[in-house]
Amino acid sequence: MIGGGQLGRMMVSAAARLGYRTIVLDPDAACPAAQLANETITAAYDDREALERLAASVAVVTYEFENVPVAPVRALSHIVPVFPPPEALEVAQDRVVEKAFLNGTGIRTAPWRAVDDAPELDHAFLDLGGDCILKTRRLGYDGKGQAVLRENGTHGEAFDSLGGVPSILEKKIAFEREISVIAARGQDGSFAAYDPAENVHGLGILKSSTVPASVRPEQAEAASAIARAILDKLNYVGVIGVEFFVGRDGELLVNEIAPRVHNSGHWTEAACTVSQFEQHIRAVAGLPLGDPKRHSDCVMENLIGQDVERALPLLREADVMLTLYGKAEARPGRKMGHFTRVSPRSAP
Ligand code: ADP
Ligand code: MG
Repeated sequence: MIGGGQLGRMMVSAAARLGYRTIVLDPDAACPAAQLANETITAAYDDREALERLAASVAVVTYEFENVPVAPVRALSHIVPVFPPPEALEVAQDRVVEKAFLNGTGIRTAPWRAVDDAPELDHAFLDLGGDCILKTRRLGYDGKGQAVLRENGTHGEAFDSLGGVPSILEKKIAFEREISVIAARGQDGSFAAYDPAENVHGLGILKSSTVPASVRPEQAEAASAIARAILDKLNYVGVIGVEFFVGRDGELLVNEIAPRVHNSGHWTEAACTVSQFEQHIRAVAGLPLGDPKRHSDCVMENLIGQDVERALPLLREADVMLTLYGKAEARPGRKMGHFTRVSPRSAP
């Protein structure tokens, strides 16, 4: 496992339950996944010698976040199977490449323009019209690396405020709701998708995921079909998270894809027999995919920063599954844990 954050931790735990041993490579010796893995390699993600040591010791390599440098991972894939494929990393790492890939696959997104300097931003802003969001092409997460540009406001500082790096300007979508689909593709090309979750963000960070989402069955099916088209096109193996905007007229636009297990899929651990974490391990290990069916309705909430103080009383609630990530310090904006409250499944 390259990367040892909470996603890695939950995958390591799922792997252990299936009888596998894991080695985690992360620059931080005390990272959340290191506490559970059989072995750890403390090294930078692009440390070739460390990556080769990892490759020499394992049957398969996977990763828990999309900012692993592509070149060393691609080199690794010649020595040992790497899933999801490095092409998926390449697409998901750069918002311009990602949008071009999606549109090229016939999938709709927010209208967008690549922006490499301040004059280009002026043109793109006029061109798209209305409120827009400027995002860095690379390395953004949890709403970081983004600036909102108001239709009638000034935006002279916006490009520099994000560091003057290659960026993308997107039209701000007046969406009705946000949903996501967590889907998986096996080594045999099999496909499984969980029911869409309805997601609420605060300051760009996921606050809660509710399942079922308030979408019509046809919309849920359409979202799942889009996820499937993405997986097939990438010849993907593993779990993917696909984030959507649902427009006021019910249209589906893909916001972004994450080539890994996803925060908006944490609910699967409490409301499905096979969680997204086990599903990913099954896929990369070449096992049959699990049935993604859901036995309960549920709401997952993140515990961010000082929210972690809410954890203790939750332990008294019979319908709540609590997960803490083993992070020592509760910094503001840092994901410390999450909990899922289940309720009986509503009639289908
Ligand atoms: P991150 O990588 O930080 O998750 P996102 O592109 O998903 O970046 O942006 C985070 C959140 O910001 C989205 O879930 C959504 O709520 C809001 N957002 C992002 N892009 C747009 C857009 N084009 N229109 C409206 N809201 C957006
Ligand atoms: Mg997002």
